Amino acid sequence: MKIAIAREAIEVGERRVALIPALVKRLAQPDWYFLLEANAGEGSFIPDADYVDAGAAVVADKAELWSNTDVLLKVAPPSRDEVNLLPEGSTLISFLNPLGDPELIKLLADRQITAFSMELIPRTSRAQSMDALSSQAGIAGYKAVLLGAAALPKFFPMLTTAAGTIRPAKVFVMGAGVAGLQAIATARRLGAIVEAFDIRPAVKEEVQSLGAKFVEIDLGEDTVAAGGYAKEVSAAAQQKTQAVLTEHIANSDVVITTAQVPGKRAPILVTAAMVEGMAPGSVIVDLAANQGGNCEVTDPGKDINYHGVTVIGPTNLPSSMPVHASQLYAKNIATLLQYLVKDNAINLDFEDDIIRDTCITHAGEIRSDRVKTALGISSEVQV
Ligand code: NAD
Repeated sequence: MKIAIAREAIEVGERRVALIPALVKRLAQPDWYFLLEANAGEGSFIPDADYVDAGAAVVADKAELWSNTDVLLKVAPPSRDEVNLLPEGSTLISFLNPLGDPELIKLLADRQITAFSMELIPRTSRAQSMDALSSQAGIAGYKAVLLGAAALPKFFPMLTTAAGTIRPAKVFVMGAGVAGLQAIATARRLGAIVEAFDIRPAVKEEVQSLGAKFVEIDLGEDTVAAGGYAKEVSAAAQQKTQAVLTEHIANSDVVITTAQVPGKRAPILVTAAMVEGMAPGSVIVDLAANQGGNCEVTDPGKDINYHGVTVIGPTNLPSSMPVHASQLYAKNIATLLQYLVKDNAINLDFEDDIIRDTCITHAGEIRSDRVKTALGISSEVQV
């Protein structure tokens, strides 16, 4: 079985790589041949020679690599041109942004590719070591706090000096999922006073165990959907939260927003008026910038100054820490690959929840109802 490691588009800011040499070595089996697209590890500071030492062969010609593989491993969704290079019947494992770009999924199905979407790994304890959304969200949460601290014209920790006492910074984290909890932990380590809010009441104890205060708002409606994800809340509940949140936002030096609802535009939690209510010099880091942003004035991919408040809208923070992001993602993808392969071939037991949920195209079929709906195709297959 030929397993190819793709080179990401480093020029446009994707520095991660799907597999690292240590895992090439660990995955080694007599009939597995690892092929590396030349310079694939460059963005993560891994020279081709390290992959060669681990047993991989380097292929300089992109078309040759992509068109001669059984399984292709990638981080970011492939381009249309790349998909057109893949041989019929081959397997692709990558983030695929299925709800954001359903046309790509259609192309993969039309090209008879068996595609596994890393976004769709179930959030269960059995699949935890394959959960790339979590491994990458943790990195984003950590880095968001560092960006916030670097942009804030103040200290984070309390300092007692001969020249006077410095009061600690106040950080407000909105959305306490994987990224939010890591942001809370990081801000606490830097010595800030931290508050957090989430519409899922179950996270209260996790927030408190990290030393932050949980802002409780009774929304009067069910906020948890299948799989423990948040539901989109009603306009009335949104208004109710905004009234309470306005005060907390105004009192914060740094606001980190991470709120997302799968498949939907991110909810607006910080309006332009709320930003205007913050002290000049304050900072907002909006981790939902890719999904439209939690802050009304966020400009995705840019740092802007709005009424004296710095609003940062990063779109790919994991890629800004490529060494550890690649290490963790590689572990996720290697675990999935080992799980999928039986008798030297990809096993498609659709009774298995990990395979059923993650495999998005097979034998010319799109296997996700939500993608089919987005494409205006009716469906019988359930994902
Ligand atoms: P996410 O990225 O989808 O959303 C981030 C957070 O935003 C969530 O905590 C969500 O509740 C919150 N949110 C959504 N709308 C909001 C609003 N209007 N106001 C405030 N907050 C809002 O979430 P995630 O980090 O991917 O985690 C999703 C779920 O999956 C969680 O329940 C998490 O505990 C669970 N999870 C389970 C496992 C596992 O069991 N292996 C692993 C990872 C995550």
